Amino acid sequence: MKLFHSARLQLTIWYLLVIALISLTFSAAIYKTQTDELTRFSLLQRQRIEQRLEQGFGMGPGAGLILVDLELISETKKRILVSLLVFNGIVISFSGIFGYFLAGKTLEPIEEMVQEQTRFIADASHELRTPITSLLVNLEVFMRGKKTRDESLKVIDASLIEVRRLRDLAGSLLHLSADLGHASQREKLDLKKIVESVVRKYQATAKERKITLKQSGVSVFATGNKNDLEELFTILLDNAIKYSKEGGEVTLATKSQNKKTIVTVKDTGVGIAKADLPHIFDRFYRADLSRSKGHSSGYGLGLSIAQKIADSHRAEIAVKSKLGSGSTFVVSFPKQA
Ligand code: ADP
Repeated sequence: MKLFHSARLQLTIWYLLVIALISLTFSAAIYKTQTDELTRFSLLQRQRIEQRLEQGFGMGPGAGLILVDLELISETKKRILVSLLVFNGIVISFSGIFGYFLAGKTLEPIEEMVQEQTRFIADASHELRTPITSLLVNLEVFMRGKKTRDESLKVIDASLIEVRRLRDLAGSLLHLSADLGHASQREKLDLKKIVESVVRKYQATAKERKITLKQSGVSVFATGNKNDLEELFTILLDNAIKYSKEGGEVTLATKSQNKKTIVTVKDTGVGIAKADLPHIFDRFYRADLSRSKGHSSGYGLGLSIAQKIADSHRAEIAVKSKLGSGSTFVVSFPKQA
């Protein structure tokens, strides 16, 4: 990006200025002490020679000047100056190259973040367009000619579906961009109780879809935000039901294992292809829709939100899945001290 190239150059110039300033200041100090030392040395030597000459040979003052080579002293000062200038030249050239490299490294994460944001906005706008277009078409149809009450209700019904989709999408986008439960709003929670309340909420939906919904396990504790964790398990359970076939089984379990507090959401649904597994937590990623045909009305944002919540609780989400036989999502929290 052009913006980043010019920022990189600017940063390089700043690095260069700072290093040049330090190097030149030190060089000036070195030059000053060295030349002062030389002057002191030449004066001292001149005095000594003069003293000896006066005592031994009775020659007048000023004869010492001949023996202390003033030219050699000024030549030495010049050589010190040249070496310091060469040294500074090398330092500044190297810092230019190194500074450019360092500026690139400094800006890299910011550039990636900006690219990610741009991609996110583009994806979000794309997703927003679809329901808005459907809504527009519905309204245009409605306006064209007279409609019976039944026809009108049909159009309104179809429009309501799109409005609900828009509301859900806006909610998910908001959730992804918002700060999650602040540290001060965290408390020690019994995850079994949270799972219980989520399961209760979904019993009716599961029954309707002829899916058996079960819960097992013991009380396990983690420090967290109740609403966020409820949201996390709701997303996993919602997916488990959404991607299950009639007669399937979904089980939520809580347990402690190897210094971890674990919640698993297991289904016997459509499963996830190996190729899709590394991407399912990416924003807007949806695996082959034909497999989950009829059930999926999502935007591919659920698991990104789940991941964000898990990260904010220092928890990890792992997935095991086999196409055609089901998936298991394992959320592990660091154990309470
Ligand atoms: P969506 O809104 O599409 O469900 P998610 O981010 O929740 O978005 O999930 C991303 C993709 O991961 C889904 O489109 C689906 O293909 C796959 N997926 C998630 N959970 C499951 C599951 N339990 N079984 C099968 N596929 C799943």
